[in-house]
Amino acid sequence: MFWCEEVAARCSRPQIINDSKTPSGRVHVGALRGVLIHDAIFRTLRAKGLEARYFFGVDDYDPLDEIPAGKDEHFSKYLGQPLCNVPPPDGSDAPDMAEHYMGEFWGVFEELGVEVERYRMRDVYRSGRFNVVIDKILRNAETVRRVYKEVSNSDRPATWYPFQAVCEQCGRIGTTEVYDYDGSTVAYRCRPNMVKWATGCGHEGRVSPFDGRGKLPWKLEWVAKWVTFPVGIEGAGKDHSTKGGSRDVAAACARAIFGQEPPLNVPYEFFLVGGAKMSSSRGIGASARDMADLLPPEVLRFLMIRTKPNSPVNFEANEEGIVKLFNEYDRCEGRVHREKNATPDEGRILSLSETSGRGEVYQANFQLVTALAQMPHLNALEEIGKRAGRPLTALERGVLQRRIRSAEVWVDRYAADSEKTRLQEVLPESVNALSEAQRGFLLQLSEALKTAEWEGDALQTCVFETARMTPIEQPVAFKAIYRALLDKELGPRAGNLFAYLSREFLVGLLSTVAVDRPEFLRTTAVAVDTLREWVEAQRAKAMLIESRLVQAGGVLAQEFLVVMEDGKRHVRRVLVADEAEGGLLAASVKG
Ligand SMILES: [Zn+2]
Repeated sequence: MFWCEEVAARCSRPQIINDSKTPSGRVHVGALRGVLIHDAIFRTLRAKGLEARYFFGVDDYDPLDEIPAGKDEHFSKYLGQPLCNVPPPDGSDAPDMAEHYMGEFWGVFEELGVEVERYRMRDVYRSGRFNVVIDKILRNAETVRRVYKEVSNSDRPATWYPFQAVCEQCGRIGTTEVYDYDGSTVAYRCRPNMVKWATGCGHEGRVSPFDGRGKLPWKLEWVAKWVTFPVGIEGAGKDHSTKGGSRDVAAACARAIFGQEPPLNVPYEFFLVGGAKMSSSRGIGASARDMADLLPPEVLRFLMIRTKPNSPVNFEANEEGIVKLFNEYDRCEGRVHREKNATPDEGRILSLSETSGRGEVYQANFQLVTALAQMPHLNALEEIGKRAGRPLTALERGVLQRRIRSAEVWVDRYAADSEKTRLQEVLPESVNALSEAQRGFLLQLSEALKTAEWEGDALQTCVFETARMTPIEQPVAFKAIYRALLDKELGPRAGNLFAYLSREFLVGLLSTVAVDRPEFLRTTAVAVDTLREWVEAQRAKAMLIESRLVQAGGVLAQEFLVVMEDGKRHVRRVLVADEAEGGLLAASVKG
């Protein structure tokens, strides 16, 4: 059963789904996993006619415990203060740091079509909404200490209370320790050495724990949300979901103090992004915003939703990884919308990935788009549109435009130099390192292209035919094409790429390939026995076999042209004589 269906099968009554984020810096790409898992569950419940709401909280009463990269000057004096009280970085028009970093993340939600009911913990605490729960938790401090010991084996002294007051003197929340509760106020001290990342001011006092004068530690804040909202489904990252981990502690507190079962957990694994530049100090690609720039919404959703939550998602932002992802998306879309042979799961994955029920749209192959996007003087949008076979709708042009943008972002920020595509005006030096068979193939291709029909599929057929007539293994032939044309190992479907280039240019370029004909004959010839076996194996399908002698320099070869039932032509040759080897090698083979 598809994982969303499994979750839905366990739900009957109306559900509140909850997730949250601490906005202590640019939101990391990994946070998208939870956001999209919860969104997929939310949509699945709705599609089944179950009432559901998706809440997403900003944990902005958490203390600033780390300075965002490169911002020391501004932030260091606020370490330990609630994030909602820290001013935004210079140049930001947000009212505070929390809103500054969440603003970027909310933008990603909108692009991904994730609709949530937002809340800020600042507002929840200050409105008094948690007052009742805070009181009950503080009255049950003993129970909390026992649960910490039993579930996670962590000792808390008898004077420890699960609450952090905002220091009335210095405004820090991360440095205070509460040691008493009398039913209306807590006693706290602001300790200079309680945490490594902030220094408390030493103030001691009593303060009401209500209406935003402090917060619960996050494990109990979880409990407060579950009980108050109340939350029915909340997945947690695997780092929280281990045995005796924070999720277990919170669940045990919910049961022990409130007699309430915790929400359904959907433990999820990490979302990891690798690639050439990912580990660089510039940190390109590490934020959720960067990933939403790179991948179109439906592809990013697809990447996350097709994988079960308890399996990691490893996305390599290199050429191979990104091309594979787009191709897999296109294949799934094709099977659902065009070929109508998708499995039920594929149908579910696609409908959960599409940000609007857009149905079938024209999709240009990403690898081709990427190659075209790197060709100067070529307007990829217009040129691809011309070859679509029909006018594109406004929606399709938008989808194509977004795909071109993904290609440009990838080339600009992620592609290694060797992965970039540069259309070669003249043959690159590296063509000299190709085999004689590859060079012979390229030269033969330049001849075949003179008369080929100038259309993607026809040109691809021409490449295959030329490879059989050389003969050369097809993968090796394609490598030769990419080397000559782009000076790299990989490239888009050759026929499709050719269709965007002019016949004159392509024939001109390939006809300059230098071939050592005698060496070509030597390296493409097979042993007589091999030829015999091959002919035997093909005999039933062969329509016509012709042979002729070919000569180049001191090499004489006998060449066999075999035409098969399906019309495909193949060439095989054996050496008859080679001066370099001392003359006659084999008697000619009788067909
Ligand atoms: Zn203080």
